[in-house]
Amino acid sequence: MKIKILSDDLINKIAAGEVLERPSSAVKELVENSIDANSKTINIYIRNGGKTEITVIDDGDGIDENQLELAVQRHATSKLNMENFDNILSLGFRGEALPSIAAVSNLKIKSNTKNNENGNLIELNAGKIISKKPTNQKKGTFINVKDLFYSTPARLKFLKSENYESLLIRRTIKKLAICNYNIIFRLNVNHKEVLKTKKVEETNDLAQLKIRVAEVLGNEFIENSIFFDEQKDCYRLFGFLGVPTYHHSNTNNQYIFVNKRIVQDKSLNVIFKLAYRDFISYDRFPQFVCFIECPSEDIDVNVHPAKNEVRFKDIKTLNSNIINCVKENLKKVMHFASTVNTDRAINKFSKSVSQNTLKLAETSDVEFTPFPMKVENQEQNQESEKKEFPLGYAKSQFHNTYIISQTDNGIVVVDQHAAHERIVYERLKNQIYNNEIKTQLLLIPVVIDIEKSSLNVILNSLETVKKFGVNIEQFGSDSIVVREVPSILSDCDIKNLTLDLINDFIESKDSKLVEERINRICSKMACHGSIRAGREMQINEMNDLLRRMEATPFSGQCNHGRPTYVELKLNDIEKLFGRK
Ligand code: ADP
Ligand code: MG
Repeated sequence: MKIKILSDDLINKIAAGEVLERPSSAVKELVENSIDANSKTINIYIRNGGKTEITVIDDGDGIDENQLELAVQRHATSKLNMENFDNILSLGFRGEALPSIAAVSNLKIKSNTKNNENGNLIELNAGKIISKKPTNQKKGTFINVKDLFYSTPARLKFLKSENYESLLIRRTIKKLAICNYNIIFRLNVNHKEVLKTKKVEETNDLAQLKIRVAEVLGNEFIENSIFFDEQKDCYRLFGFLGVPTYHHSNTNNQYIFVNKRIVQDKSLNVIFKLAYRDFISYDRFPQFVCFIECPSEDIDVNVHPAKNEVRFKDIKTLNSNIINCVKENLKKVMHFASTVNTDRAINKFSKSVSQNTLKLAETSDVEFTPFPMKVENQEQNQESEKKEFPLGYAKSQFHNTYIISQTDNGIVVVDQHAAHERIVYERLKNQIYNNEIKTQLLLIPVVIDIEKSSLNVILNSLETVKKFGVNIEQFGSDSIVVREVPSILSDCDIKNLTLDLINDFIESKDSKLVEERINRICSKMACHGSIRAGREMQINEMNDLLRRMEATPFSGQCNHGRPTYVELKLNDIEKLFGRK
């Protein structure tokens, strides 16, 4: 066997395999080059999912005639030197993209650095220069890639359908357009414009970001998210957080940028999932745009040939900042629930009513009084206070499960159990985290028979259970007695509540996450302590529930991420009846 040094041609093909996974990676590299060249406008044209043709045209700094050949050589870059190696500010720095693309396609570059039409052209075929000559080209760069991967059939075989490859390119451009909100982008797929951002008009950076996010992700995203901007330690975090009820089936709508770089890092997605954990069920995912900014020396961008990953010096601090930032900002959302549910409701209504009879929530025959509701005559002050009560005034209850309330400009339908459950949950959590759980001694202690095998676990957990306001003692050899419970739960079925709690302790003895455990137990207790579906409520009780919802953080969704209410605007109702 003879060892030999690989030819440049082979080296470039190998590099292409790493840098270019598929057409969307080539698009990303080319557009990032345009961004690094200070372009103001970038136009992208795609044919056949980028497999047949990719063209990127920018109005940036351009490449000088004598640099064109260098630009397509391996490890040739204008962006890196010994001084800035630990402090890379440009998107590119490896000098690998153009030679890699050139090695596996037919590449044409036209460029000009001056404000005239005297540009230069270089053409390559599978990495070999086939012509170089002057051409008409205004300031900026035109790059055309034909038949990507034609010289590496193995890679070509792995590409998916045209539609799928186009979709990935679209996603890439969406990300680049959000991240570079001061640059105009246009994407044309098979001669059809599929994305176009407007002229950049706002001089205020954040106002421009908001315009761009609305353009790219739609008004629905803006309506259902909140803007945030926080600086802590060396990290600035800003962007838009979708409200919890505006969840998605995967992480595709999570846009994370680090120092204006697109980052694909599953562990960051997980941190956001943790931050939303308390509000979204485990199989759904939050939607958000998050810019992370930190000093460039605190991250390492040279992790991956496709530059999709970065490494943080202090990932622990960043993670905890993200979690705190998300939680604090979501608190501000209070009772707000996603408008998407309103749209869904309207769509259901507008079809034939007979096909779409409202589904009833499960009714239960357990009857008990919830925690004492304030009874006030609210009727008198209705007019003056109207504006202050976004959830309006209760008009009636139907199927003993839902409350209808009239607001300033529509109606609100509340799921009484879901809403109350969230309120009790937040209250319990608040009391437990602040170590001030209010308890009540039971007039008649409740004795519960316990299987011998479980008794030991329970006896070992008595101290912990007490922290949750439940005071249990052993009672004989095979039973326990409950003497005290949180006041908020004093009216519920104590036996069922206790058995549920005990089961939780038995099942999750070794749960590592204390917070997760506390929240799960509170959630269980809240379920017991809240108004059941199926219980009749008085108008003042209903109004009291609405007021509590308005005052409780996160009350727009139940503990499983379902909305607690849906709002129908008068406007939409009028449309349903053809009045508008
Ligand atoms: P890198 O971006 O890592 O430097 P590339 O292979 O992507 O490597 O590009 C090589 C060089 O070609 C860049 O450093 C830059 O000087 C030049 N270049 C590439 N694309 C453009 C462009 N659109 N406008 C101006 N210069 C460009
Ligand atoms: Mg580059």
